[in-house]
Amino acid sequence: MDYLPLFLQLRSQPVLVVGGGRVAVRKVDLLRRSGARVTVVAPDLREELRQLAAAAEIQHIPARFAPDHVDGATLVVAATNDHDVNAAVSGAARARRVPVNVVDDPALSTFIFPAIVDRSPIIVAVSSGGESPVLARRVREQIESVLPEKLGALARFMGERRKAVQRALGVLARRPFWERIVGGVVGTRVLAGDETGAEKAFESELRTSHLTTSPDTGRTGLGEVYLIGAGPGDPDLLTLRALQLLQQADVVLYDRLVPDAVLERSRRDAERIFVGKSRPAGSVERTAASDAHEVQSRIHELLVHYANKGLRVARLKGGDPFVFGRGGEEIEVLTRHGIPYISVPGITAALGAASYAGIPLTHRRLAQSVTFVTGHVLDDESLDWRALAGSRQTVVFYMGVAHLDRIVTKLREAGAHAEHPVAIVERATLPDQRTLRATLGSITELARAEKVTAPALLIVGDVTSFMASDALPTGEAREDGSMSHGAYV
Ligand code: SAH
Repeated sequence: MDYLPLFLQLRSQPVLVVGGGRVAVRKVDLLRRSGARVTVVAPDLREELRQLAAAAEIQHIPARFAPDHVDGATLVVAATNDHDVNAAVSGAARARRVPVNVVDDPALSTFIFPAIVDRSPIIVAVSSGGESPVLARRVREQIESVLPEKLGALARFMGERRKAVQRALGVLARRPFWERIVGGVVGTRVLAGDETGAEKAFESELRTSHLTTSPDTGRTGLGEVYLIGAGPGDPDLLTLRALQLLQQADVVLYDRLVPDAVLERSRRDAERIFVGKSRPAGSVERTAASDAHEVQSRIHELLVHYANKGLRVARLKGGDPFVFGRGGEEIEVLTRHGIPYISVPGITAALGAASYAGIPLTHRRLAQSVTFVTGHVLDDESLDWRALAGSRQTVVFYMGVAHLDRIVTKLREAGAHAEHPVAIVERATLPDQRTLRATLGSITELARAEKVTAPALLIVGDVTSFMASDALPTGEAREDGSMSHGAYV
């Protein structure tokens, strides 16, 4: 270890910064965030620093650096672009045994600034010992992306309740109690921004903590459900919160639309239960039931059953739970049973498909609105086919491929042109995604010839021909198994 990592208490401490340029601005900002009293020595200041000095937020000594400026400082930072000045600052500080950092010059420094992830009071500091600040920053970014935004709030929440827990629980019970808080309902509530819910759950945990702890799970009576949108298939499209909750869940109930690559992101030892209608041949997962209605009530039973056992249940659903996903019914059941839940939005199939197929769902010239329709209820009186057949809009049909014929007929009857451009996006965002572009008049035939299967979406509107290459006349198959969105082209 070349450096010892330490966290320095600088509140109200005098810190000297030499230099008034861009680099100094950054350091002054950081030092002020830690509460330091900053003095800047520099003949001139950049505007930002000038304003701080004018507002007496920092002290400015308008002079060239002299060694006695270091006197009394707790810490010194040299941030000029003049090597001689930096060396002089370093020498003066060392002579007085004051820790000094010369920006970008480890040889002249006795301490270095780490790259930091600030979820105060949780702070992560990363250093490459000055060897590669770029690498250190990369590591920092990776940590940044896995730590919940509200981690600091959780730390404070727990800090504020330490005393109460000390009073209520014996020494041995405290640690498992806090473990449960961090990893359980209370933690997830705070991280999801629901401090009121967290407070309630905390009180209930504290009340029950002297009661039995379930021997097989180590958990007490408080369970909850995470209703998680898994996105259209590409695991990289999971949200950070979805990942965090998947990592916590004890049980994962998942649908047919959730690919293994997404499931893999859940905790290794979580129990994974398939609750879809059918699973592709060869799969060995437990299947709950076959009929759709039965499946849904079985899901409700399982949600309630596991949550009531005190487990954290992830209900992982394709796309977004609230878009043709029966998420609404599930939260009704949970609410009825008084089971707390957190819902996490996912990228719905239409958004994933449009993005990966290079189809803008709205476009200033081509479409002013977009409508998502389920192909399941084509005869429903509430569907206004005349409106759906109009121009300058985009309509996306979910679950529509099996009913393609009927959808096309309905749209044509309602006045849509045979030449109206459409696209089918099959297995959107998955490695074998296909996009077929055609017209209302030709799509049925094309889909049959190309043996389109679920899951697939039908997108209707001028936007579907927007990105199509000029070389491809409409009506002809355009297969782009590779992702066609910009970043990959
Ligand atoms: N809640 C889901 C939709 C469930 S309905 C969501 O928000 O995406 C199931 C229908 O969604 C499928 O029949 C299909 O039309 C569409 N779908 C889901 N995933 C898809 C994918 N990867 N590619 C194309 N269509 C998909």
